[in-house]
Amino acid sequence: MDALATRKMQFLYALRSKGVTDTRVLTAMEQIDRGHFVTGLFADRAYEDMPLPIGCGQTISQPSVVGLMSQALDIQPRDTVLEVGTGSGYQAAILSKLARRVYTVDRHRQLVREARTIFTDMDLTNITAITGDGSHGLPDQAPFDRIIVTAASEDPPGPLLAQLKIGGIMVVPVGQSDAVQSLIKVTRLEVGFDYHELRAVRFVPLLEGLAKE
Ligand code: SAH
Repeated sequence: MDALATRKMQFLYALRSKGVTDTRVLTAMEQIDRGHFVTGLFADRAYEDMPLPIGCGQTISQPSVVGLMSQALDIQPRDTVLEVGTGSGYQAAILSKLARRVYTVDRHRQLVREARTIFTDMDLTNITAITGDGSHGLPDQAPFDRIIVTAASEDPPGPLLAQLKIGGIMVVPVGQSDAVQSLIKVTRLEVGFDYHELRAVRFVPLLEGLAKE
């Protein structure tokens, strides 16, 4: 086995040992090569279980956190998913293997542009990447079966809660941006919401408005 194949095998082993056990999620993470989303200085660390810097001062999440969030969403094949925080596009690419359609929004035009190019190169045709302030959601495409927020806010944004279908699930890191946050799974009930705390995480903050490039 060559060195790259060994690293990829260790990558999947690390995911399993950190609690990513859903076979659909593991298969998706086997299919989507993280190496496409990490370029430049850190390219040779793409298969390590750690967050890494991408452009615009942002980070690509730790693979085990991507796996655990994807697993918590319990995505069904016919689902429409909204992701807030496209970043490198890695999480969206995983989601695209699990769902029927994925909308992903980022406030950095440049990140959206780069992610779109990767999606096209990888032939991931069911992802729509949009530049915008994702904390308002996407009213034109709502409601969503699943919503994933990959930037931390002090509370789950109200417009996102409103754009979740009944029975739908949202996973969102909640807490101060400079501290450890809690990853929360929110399920929309017939009346109200159920909140379940999953684990401690650390994400960049959810910021208002479009980024000045
Ligand atoms: N999911 C990404 C990692 C996201 S990093 C990946 O797989 O690589 C968090 C991202 O959230 C950053 O790219 C940041 O620009 C974006 N972000 C922060 N606030 C936002 C907002 N209000 N709307 C949309 N994107 C936002």
